[in-house]
Amino acid sequence: MMKTQMLFLGPPASGKGTQTERLSKELGLPHIDTGSLLRAEIAAGTEEGKIIQALIDKGHLAPADIVAKIIIKKIFSEEAKNGYILDGYPRSIEQAELMENELEKAGVANSPKRIVVKMRVDKDSLMERIVNRRMCKNCGKIYNLKTLPPKDEHVCDECGGELYQRKDDNEEVAMQRFETYNTETAPLVDYYTKKGLLVTVDANKAPEEVYEEILKVIGA
Ligand code: AMP
Repeated sequence: MMKTQMLFLGPPASGKGTQTERLSKELGLPHIDTGSLLRAEIAAGTEEGKIIQALIDKGHLAPADIVAKIIIKKIFSEEAKNGYILDGYPRSIEQAELMENELEKAGVANSPKRIVVKMRVDKDSLMERIVNRRMCKNCGKIYNLKTLPPKDEHVCDECGGELYQRKDDNEEVAMQRFETYNTETAPLVDYYTKKGLLVTVDANKAPEEVYEEILKVIGA
């Protein structure tokens, strides 16, 4: 069976996490969420976790070699044998080339089931989404106090876990995250367009409508 290799590109708070989480459940493919994997490394208190934390807290990218070590292993894990949905990786040309190399070595770079979904959102709405975002400490579910509110501001509807605001979800760090996206990540749009892998989704709409559009463009 051909492996489904899907990755999502888009600025912070464009809805990648919300959409990929759902898609992963419904397609039965693992959701490889880079930001959460890096936050788990920080929580584990490793030396690498400390290096990552200093960069995340400022809105910069974590070092490419550390991130690659975590992600590439996941892509080729048993769990991902039928495919995977990558959320937040790659985030730079350097990371994309590194991944491309690994896919070529494994003979899966030219698979017809490879697709890159670009989430296009108006810049103005992103900051609003970021400051209103809350996340469950236990299951990782994402809420928005205005557009997707939990019944209780502090409690996850799904699992009863505690909701929190990410430390980097404030205006100052978010400004830097946008800057990092524009300089490091946005060039990937051209990179994957040239490879014929890119499709764009209008992610300004409500999550449900965005989800429907994603299903259409990926042919699910
Ligand atoms: P996210 O949860 O996707 O918003 O990611 C949160 C933060 O984790 C980013 O602002 C980066 O500091 C770091 N990060 C996530 N993905 C990557 C990546 N592919 N490479 C380097 N750093 C990353």
